[in-house]
Amino acid sequence: KLQNHDHDEYIFRSKLPNIYIPNHLPLHKYCFENISQFSSRTCLINSTTGATYSYMDVELIAKRIALGLHKLGIEQRDVIMLLLPNSPEFVFAFLGALFRGVICTTANPFYTPSEITKQAKASNAKLIITQSLYVDKIKRYAEENEVKIMCTDDDSTPDDCLSFAELLLNCQNDSHLSDSVKILPDDVAALPYSSGTTGLPKGVMLTHKGLVTSVAQQVDGENPNLYFHSEDVIMCVLPLFHIYSLNSILLCGLRVGATILIMQKFEIKGLMELVEKYKVTIAPFVPPIVLAIAKSPLVDEYDLSSIRMIMSGAAPMGKELEDTVRAKLPNAILGQGYGMTEAGPVLSMCLAFAKQQFEVKSGSCGTVVRNAEMKIVDTNTGAFLPRNHAGEICIRGDQIMKGYLNNPKATEETIDTKGWLHTGDIGYIDDDDQVFIVDRLKELIKYKGYQVAPAELEAMLISNPNISDAAVVPMKDEVAGEVPVAFVVRANGSKISEDEIKQYVSQQVIFYKRINRVFFTEEIPKAPSGKILRKDLRAKLAAGGLAS
Ligand code: AMP
Repeated sequence: KLQNHDHDEYIFRSKLPNIYIPNHLPLHKYCFENISQFSSRTCLINSTTGATYSYMDVELIAKRIALGLHKLGIEQRDVIMLLLPNSPEFVFAFLGALFRGVICTTANPFYTPSEITKQAKASNAKLIITQSLYVDKIKRYAEENEVKIMCTDDDSTPDDCLSFAELLLNCQNDSHLSDSVKILPDDVAALPYSSGTTGLPKGVMLTHKGLVTSVAQQVDGENPNLYFHSEDVIMCVLPLFHIYSLNSILLCGLRVGATILIMQKFEIKGLMELVEKYKVTIAPFVPPIVLAIAKSPLVDEYDLSSIRMIMSGAAPMGKELEDTVRAKLPNAILGQGYGMTEAGPVLSMCLAFAKQQFEVKSGSCGTVVRNAEMKIVDTNTGAFLPRNHAGEICIRGDQIMKGYLNNPKATEETIDTKGWLHTGDIGYIDDDDQVFIVDRLKELIKYKGYQVAPAELEAMLISNPNISDAAVVPMKDEVAGEVPVAFVVRANGSKISEDEIKQYVSQQVIFYKRINRVFFTEEIPKAPSGKILRKDLRAKLAAGGLAS
């Protein structure tokens, strides 16, 4: 019988016992809490240059950056934007900001000027740290809004931009590097953008307490560390501007004292060379990278046997793909994690990463993290569901976001009064406590793990005078997982073509948000409330036979 109240029987927890989590500490203090044990170990390797930085170096540089930010007039609780590819400077800037109580909003440097501007404006970023290559995209906005730009590639920093190296140099001889700001557990540390279950991208307020909790849930504990150890070399090819990489690679890696190998841009041969050269042990990936490994004949040419763990997350991974890679890399445990930016981000993780005796089931996203509760609710009645019944996955714990920036309505719609965060993902928990995701209730489209918010593309389409209505939904794609496709109602008398529409959108968005197909239609199906009936459109697509 289904229950409608907080029936403990239907609340799922980790198979591992809860742990003590020191989440009163600011995030950087927590990450560097054990640094005396590994201060001379290599913390970062820049795979592009071969440069290495010890833990001591990284802490010192971060403190200098903190001071430099202060000298620039960037104060506690101000926001700065990191518009950077993976690089040591990303790490220094992020940690420096933490030491100063400054909040980092992170964005993809390949975004178009309008995408960057929207986020810079919404987050009220006072400084944008980037590379000279991207300065033109933000120059005008920065001038008009008195926002400072700082470049990390010092040889080519334009005259009117600040220089990262100079900032460091200016703080070289300061004796009082100690952090003087008082950071509270509920202060925001990171502000990634996510569209969540509906609408446009929103600033996700992840606090010091939330991120400490999330990192502890993944790595703290018995061995002394759960998933990673200080001897590990972690491949950091996933973009640090996404919370998966920022949290599960960088912060978790720092906490345990591991070596983080920074790769700026994914390329399969280069990746394998790096694995062999640096004897990478941990490989956090997304399904398209796992797919590239599965398909690449190069796998046999490189020694990849050092990899002991391949983690896949951010998007679904098919059973066949899992099985193929397991056969190719028998030394590694391949398992999935399940994350969502708003959830801090990790909800569940493959338990075999921690204890080999646990079975890894294909398609499983692991078990719920420690010190957290998960429930599955019936999407019609809201009733808690027992095992093996699919419903909306909800999570509760200190790790989840504080809320959306300046958006209490969207926050209330996502976190209910009892503290449950509603993910918009449909899944179930099996007899063995393993989480399986089977569908997505929310609008979100995931292209290779990147977020595409249909509402953003729909607003763009409707702003074209030749289009009277539009809806964007995901279409399955072997390489990307999903691609956005549009159903479009032409304005009266308009003859706008599929190509013109695609071009119109592609001028305004990053490559992965481009519309893959356009289907012209007479009407967009809507509920009486005006909500687009996306399920109907997805069903139409699945049925096939649609003509552009
Ligand atoms: P993001 O906030 O960009 O991390 O996107 C979160 C969403 O990605 C989740 O709500 C899921 O829809 C999807 N996702 C993340 N991890 C997985 C996974 N292992 N399997 C299936 N979907 C996933």
